[in-house]
Amino acid sequence: MKKVYLETFGCQMNVSDSERVATALSSRGFEMTGREDQADIVLINTCSVREKAEQKLYTRVGEIRKGRIHKPIVGVLGCVAQLEGETLFRKIEGIDAIVGTRAVGRISEVIGRVLDGEDEVTDLGERERDYDWSVTDEQRHSPHVAFVPIIEGCNKFCTYCIVPFSRGREISLSASAIIRNVLELKRSGVREVHLIGQNVNSYRPESDSGLEAFSGKTPFSRLLRAVAATGIERIKFNTSFPRDFHADIVDAIEENENLCNWVHLPVQSGSDRILRMMKRGHSVDKYLKKIDRIATSERDIAVTTDIIVGFPGETEDDFQGTVDLVNTVKYDAAYIFKYSARPGTPAYEMDDDVTPETKTRRFLELQEHQRGIQKARLRRYVGQVLKVLVEKPAARFDHQVSGHSTCHKVVNFEGPANLIGQIVDVRVTEVKSNSLFGQHMSPGLPLS
Ligand code: SF4
Repeated sequence: MKKVYLETFGCQMNVSDSERVATALSSRGFEMTGREDQADIVLINTCSVREKAEQKLYTRVGEIRKGRIHKPIVGVLGCVAQLEGETLFRKIEGIDAIVGTRAVGRISEVIGRVLDGEDEVTDLGERERDYDWSVTDEQRHSPHVAFVPIIEGCNKFCTYCIVPFSRGREISLSASAIIRNVLELKRSGVREVHLIGQNVNSYRPESDSGLEAFSGKTPFSRLLRAVAATGIERIKFNTSFPRDFHADIVDAIEENENLCNWVHLPVQSGSDRILRMMKRGHSVDKYLKKIDRIATSERDIAVTTDIIVGFPGETEDDFQGTVDLVNTVKYDAAYIFKYSARPGTPAYEMDDDVTPETKTRRFLELQEHQRGIQKARLRRYVGQVLKVLVEKPAARFDHQVSGHSTCHKVVNFEGPANLIGQIVDVRVTEVKSNSLFGQHMSPGLPLS
């Protein structure tokens, strides 16, 4: 039995693809292993959003092969494989197979061809129409939380982003298949599902199948209601695209307790001029109107975002616009990135005229600013009782366990490992830099 070690970089879509790759390989007689040094086959699921992705892949392939008498078969999957294709064979010595983002369903065949002695096998083809999106319990990253892809690809072509090229155009999965998937996950004990995709709220399936009984202003808000009706305990979704974020999404959250208190809505910049150069398709004003609906909800919905500083042409005024926007919205968390050009994107052709020093200064300034806001946002939970899905032992402390609230905060508390997998009440007592600490409300303790 050949052993396979699978390493994953990047977003939830990549993690989800890897889960299905592992599912497919195990069903075809391969054994998945956590030991790279014992593997006959090493697969690297790559991410091109990271800077110098190719260089890192080069280093990684070298490390994998170093010191091994019997060199393992090395396969490259994911975005770098899709973008670079066969050129990777020339650029990096020691790669045996290249499998694109939509070809992962044929991984067993590709590996089979390499094992049969074929050199340099490439598959960059499209996904099969009957592609199996399911994942076995053993191959899921968590027994309690599951990723459920609902849409893949992206049609937005933001000028800085490589994803539309690496992941192709938007294709929505059928609602009936998604609902079936969620029902199966619920039956196997999963407590929380994350509906995932580059832009979940751009969801637009070919047919109404599965949505007939659910009303809503957009296919996505209808899907949210349909998934909520499965009765699975918690539903989160990301990422949302601001232009396609309809107020009806908030209506759906307010109607359904199991739709969680969290929206991730990347803004990228607080300057209309930069947003136009990024081709984001929204202005600051329009974005803030969407935020208003979330902020005035009867539910306490946490909002998180992504921001790029130092985009080509960004002036001090543009940057100040971003600081002002962050002050206005008061995000629960913001993932801030310094702009760096990605070959193949329209922004790569722009004059990257913001110096590295300025990018770093703006990054640190905004990060410091956001840190203060985040602390204040976290403080509002002190004294509140949150429902926490306990997922694992806490990383650094014995006798503590860790999980997430419905507002997607990490919450740690003292408690036995047998709570893992349960949803429990935790009273928040303390704020850490990126998480909350609390006390487990054992049955019998008063809630207030
Ligand atoms: S919406 Fe823009 S940033 Fe997001 S994946 Fe698509 S092109 Fe990239």
